[in-house]
Amino acid sequence: MKNLRLKNSDKKYWPGKIICVGKNYADHVKEMGGEVLKYPVVFLKPASNLIFNDKKIVHPSHSKEMHHEVELVLLIGRDVKDADDKSAEEAIAGYTVGLDMTLRDIQWECKEKGQPWTLAKCFDTAAVVSNIVMKEDYQLKGTEKIELSVNKELRQNASLDQMLFNSVEIVKYLSSKMTLEEGDLVFTGTPAGVGKVVPGDLIEVKIENIGEFEIEVINN
Ligand code: MG
Repeated sequence: MKNLRLKNSDKKYWPGKIICVGKNYADHVKEMGGEVLKYPVVFLKPASNLIFNDKKIVHPSHSKEMHHEVELVLLIGRDVKDADDKSAEEAIAGYTVGLDMTLRDIQWECKEKGQPWTLAKCFDTAAVVSNIVMKEDYQLKGTEKIELSVNKELRQNASLDQMLFNSVEIVKYLSSKMTLEEGDLVFTGTPAGVGKVVPGDLIEVKIENIGEFEIEVINN
């Protein structure tokens, strides 16, 4: 993995930990058959899973059901612990659009057995990010549209104001549990419409004013 890619900035950020929030859109919680919680669900991916959007997503042979999850991704620009509203906002250096690729069959198996989701969420190419828009260039409104299509068919279509926990609330919560460090990425959860992709599929994602890209799924 190389430095993260930024729009209009020469700053260097080496990707640290990737923290992902689950169950952050009520309609997605519903489609997964879960319940809305009073706190974000949190899991990790290693930085070695991360690719940029000019690569391809490799479908692991140990899963029969890989799903797409389009998400707003935050770049943490400074170390922060026990953030309040102000320091949480200040810790966010920029935003991008990303994909939290998920092996749904393995996730159901893990849930059934009461095991961690690790193997459902962690595999090579499981986290995709695009170039990061720095906050100096764009202030997030929190109402931007977020969408995903597969082979030109629209599957996920929502607005960031449907997030149960917004960016600042997520950073506050996470930093109350562990230090967030410069270069960490935070995936903020996906709206409803998640679904299966297979090798040969073309995924297109977009967050209004933040970024867009297309990426292909290929065989292992
Ligand atoms: Mg997700």
